Amino acid sequence: MNLGQALESGAARLKGPLARSDAEIMLRHVTGLSRTDLLLQANREIDPESAKTYLDLVDRLREGEPLQYLTGHIEFYGLDFYVNPAVLIPRPETEVMVEKAIEIGRNYPFPTIADIGCGSGAVAVTLAKHLPQSKIIALDISTTAIDLAQRNASKNDLDNIEFIESDLLGAVSDHHFDILCANLPYVPTVEAKTNGFEPQLALDGGPDGLDVIRRLVRQIASREDKPEWLLLEFGTGQGAAVKFILDASLPGSQTQVLRDFVPLDRVSVTRLTLR
Ligand code: GLN
Repeated sequence: MNLGQALESGAARLKGPLARSDAEIMLRHVTGLSRTDLLLQANREIDPESAKTYLDLVDRLREGEPLQYLTGHIEFYGLDFYVNPAVLIPRPETEVMVEKAIEIGRNYPFPTIADIGCGSGAVAVTLAKHLPQSKIIALDISTTAIDLAQRNASKNDLDNIEFIESDLLGAVSDHHFDILCANLPYVPTVEAKTNGFEPQLALDGGPDGLDVIRRLVRQIASREDKPEWLLLEFGTGQGAAVKFILDASLPGSQTQVLRDFVPLDRVSVTRLTLR
């Protein structure tokens, strides 16, 4: 089998509008070839072992395994990240929260920012890159996630991030933060169960999806040293409930809701205190 034939048979197995480009991504992943080389060397023979690896990956993709877990990579906010099944695959809509955090962070000479539930570290690493004077604290309850996030920080040459294993803000009650960002699990349990590949720990937010967000807001409400800003990502239809939780638990705070590109309400931006 040559590269051209491999591409054809992969695309035929996948079907649908993305079949060809997905087959190409898989073939490039297995052969390590650039897009141009792949297309220019269509007649080059592919060794049987690589052909098998490639077709196995194509089959797993056809069965619904996310492409990013199969290649082990994802691009987020223009940066490259490792991903694995221990973490949620970063979504483009999370860029809304990141963009707002960068905008707010630029008003501080040396902002201290927490990414609560950092997963792959996509948020923490992007903030660290775009706010080089900042100190970022990346927190997650999962050791595997922390390990991966650390690898993503090194991959992107960043040393302004500290990683701490923590259940929400549990392990950092004595730290001062200017800005808190969190993309916590917010999918209602019933829906989370239908996602067969990503970790339930990163998705399942209890019956209405808001248990973890409520718990974080309670932790913040009971802190003596409050952050100035809190940014939360949430799911479809949760905007009013999240705003209610924030208004009720953090008296004197002001919350604005931002939309994603769909456009759906996606991120709450709360100002808790004045500097
Ligand atoms: N956006 C993800 C989804 O809908 C969920 C992310 C999360 O729970 N933080 O699958």
